[in-house]
Amino acid sequence: MTDFFTQLTAILEKEALRRPGIMAEPETLRELAADHAPRKNSAAAEAAVPAAPEFRKEQVDDRRSGGISGQLRSDLRPGTLEHLVETVRHCRGCPLCETRLNAVPGEGDPHARLMFIGEGPGADEDRQGRPFVGAAGQLLDKMITAMQFKREEVYIANIVKCRPPRNRAPMPEEAAACIGYLEHQIRMIRPEVIVLLGATAAHFLLKREEGIMKLRGRWLEYDGIPVMPTFHPAFLLRQESAKRDSWEDLKLVMRKLGKEPPAPRRAAQ
Ligand code: SF4
Repeated sequence: MTDFFTQLTAILEKEALRRPGIMAEPETLRELAADHAPRKNSAAAEAAVPAAPEFRKEQVDDRRSGGISGQLRSDLRPGTLEHLVETVRHCRGCPLCETRLNAVPGEGDPHARLMFIGEGPGADEDRQGRPFVGAAGQLLDKMITAMQFKREEVYIANIVKCRPPRNRAPMPEEAAACIGYLEHQIRMIRPEVIVLLGATAAHFLLKREEGIMKLRGRWLEYDGIPVMPTFHPAFLLRQESAKRDSWEDLKLVMRKLGKEPPAPRRAAQ
């Protein structure tokens, strides 16, 4: 008999086709099922779960004013990318800090010409504290190589720096609490081009409501920087047929950066 989660994943994949960019990993579904499984001693279990902390406005303001003083390495100069990364690692600006293993500030060349922005860390990224290191990350690496860049030459970041539970999309209040970090990263790096991976990134950075099918493949702008939205690599893993369109988007980016995409292979005569 087909595994229950395989069936459920197939159903959700169909849903993701209707609403691109929204997806669910089998691991996520298992976590979901575990969360909803009946507990033998629910009273005891509830007692063991600490109450959700209240996040006071001052905590967010604290972050915006430069981080949580007293927890940061003193050798990092405020206003540098390293200082921002360290600030993020200690941030408690929204409730996602309660469920993360590691914050994922972003990484890459501080002088990158090209910046990739995704939605938020997944399970692998949460474990390692690095962006795009799971299966989707491996595909992103291939996309970067195909664009004639090395991973360490670009900068990779996300809208939220801590993993939303069960890989759900970030809540508006979580994105609002976190987006200041990304805005600072963009301001400090000043890339020549930004590639937005998926509709959620476009929604929170550019305030666009359209789906990725409508947004992809055309130039938008953020703070004077050309922005190309395209499919999230996790979506491409599920929807192989979208890779061709994604490659067309990336070729536009290459040309914008003065790189000539490889000529298409000729079919054998
Ligand atoms: S998601 Fe952003 S604002 Fe929330 S705790 Fe993590 S770093 Fe701080």
